Amino acid sequence: MYLYNSATRKKELFVPNNPDIVKMYTCGPTVYHYAHIGNLRSYIMEDVLEKSLRYVGYNVKRVMNITDVGHLASDADTGEDKMLKGAKRENKTVMDIAKFYTDAFFADCDKLNIKRPEVVEPATNCISEYIHMVETLIAKGSAYVAGGNVYFDTSTLEKYYVFNDHDEEDLAVGVREGVEEDTNKKNKNDFVLWFTKSKFEDQALKWDSPWGVGYPGWHIECSCISMKHLGEDLDIHAGGIDNAFPHHTNEIAQSESYLGHKWCNYWFHVHHLNTDSGKMSKSKGEFLTVSLLEEKGYDPMVYRMFCLQSHYRRNLVFSWENLDNAVAAYDKLIAKIATFKNEGDIDEAALAQLKERFTKALEADLNTSLAVTAVYDVLKAKCNDATKLAALADFDKVLSLNLIEAADKLRKKQEAEEAAQEHDPYIEDMIAQRQAAKKNKDFALADKIRDDLKAQGITLIDTPQGVKWKREQ
Ligand code: AMP
Ligand code: ZN
Repeated sequence: MYLYNSATRKKELFVPNNPDIVKMYTCGPTVYHYAHIGNLRSYIMEDVLEKSLRYVGYNVKRVMNITDVGHLASDADTGEDKMLKGAKRENKTVMDIAKFYTDAFFADCDKLNIKRPEVVEPATNCISEYIHMVETLIAKGSAYVAGGNVYFDTSTLEKYYVFNDHDEEDLAVGVREGVEEDTNKKNKNDFVLWFTKSKFEDQALKWDSPWGVGYPGWHIECSCISMKHLGEDLDIHAGGIDNAFPHHTNEIAQSESYLGHKWCNYWFHVHHLNTDSGKMSKSKGEFLTVSLLEEKGYDPMVYRMFCLQSHYRRNLVFSWENLDNAVAAYDKLIAKIATFKNEGDIDEAALAQLKERFTKALEADLNTSLAVTAVYDVLKAKCNDATKLAALADFDKVLSLNLIEAADKLRKKQEAEEAAQEHDPYIEDMIAQRQAAKKNKDFALADKIRDDLKAQGITLIDTPQGVKWKREQ
């Protein structure tokens, strides 16, 4: 499988350290609010990556954190803890907020068929691991204490910016417009490993540490949680593109200084879901959730389809019109699959050919839009329905669009409607005459028949499965 690696800015052949198990880490949600559908785009594409790796034969161990402490309003270590902000907003405790929004996050993941990683670890579970890493970094000369906080010293690194060739000035978080400069930092890019109460008095969750009572920085949680469950090397680290800097850059700095060797081989970044006014973000306050889509009548599967239709390394623009197009495509697809009958033997050669096209799409840096095209190829393939159904069920192990389940449900609904349809020889004869008139392009007669029936209180409904009728009450 070829994957684009943000660290080398190239598509590379994916080779895990150990062929028996791929180690994958995902930055989890900051649980101070509902996940918006932008966050969920990242989780959908990471889910597709994990399932694709499994599909091509790898065993995957995947770990994800839950950020329930330490993520401040600005990624540059300033402002209030986001969790505290959420607790104040809702007049609840930080732990209540964390529980509520963690549950809400997994409920959304369930609706979108996003598989739960094998290990999910809340950041507040691993305080002793953070303290150990910070102590080691201080002992190695990679970190220092200033103003009550512990900072990572970026001047000890050979290379700090891993993901981009931008101007240092552009990236320097500490000197960005509107971000207050922290005078404790020796270098503008240094970042906090451990905060103490001396700086942030109203932080809700605090723990004792060798540097005083305080709490961990945001970046350290991902390094420690990954190492706790996956050891000293990592194959793939995934996250949204906004996490590349400073979050992932800082993760690499502290992890490799701590370990004394390379940590992660492949960096997988999902680009943003944008609206007309830019990136969808929780802090802007106005954002779309899965529940809101459902309230408006959208099946969450349609949002998954919408995401799969575009490549993860392209920004995706959300609009209701674009989503409606995905609805039309999904409904048509399911209606077609519902017509397939699971009869006869599977044509193994034809199935292998269909699977090959699908696999190639995934292996080309997770080209999900081509993988969706491979689904349409199945519909048109010259093989029996049983083979088509087998291919679709197989592809859905990765796509997770409920292709077979939704088609079964639709078929059952159609059969129930059929069974409930009242029979009347006169009306059925009139319908047959109307169909014949339409076939002969005698639309005037067809319309007259429909209007005559209407006058008798009978309404005709044209459906893809034929003409239905109902009596006016
Ligand atoms: P957060 O809950 O803010 O920590 O973000 C959770 C995940 O969503 C991270 O991997 C972010 O990089 C990602 N993310 C945030 N905003 C967007 C967006 N508009 N589109 C795609 N991914 C996003
Ligand atoms: Zn992270």
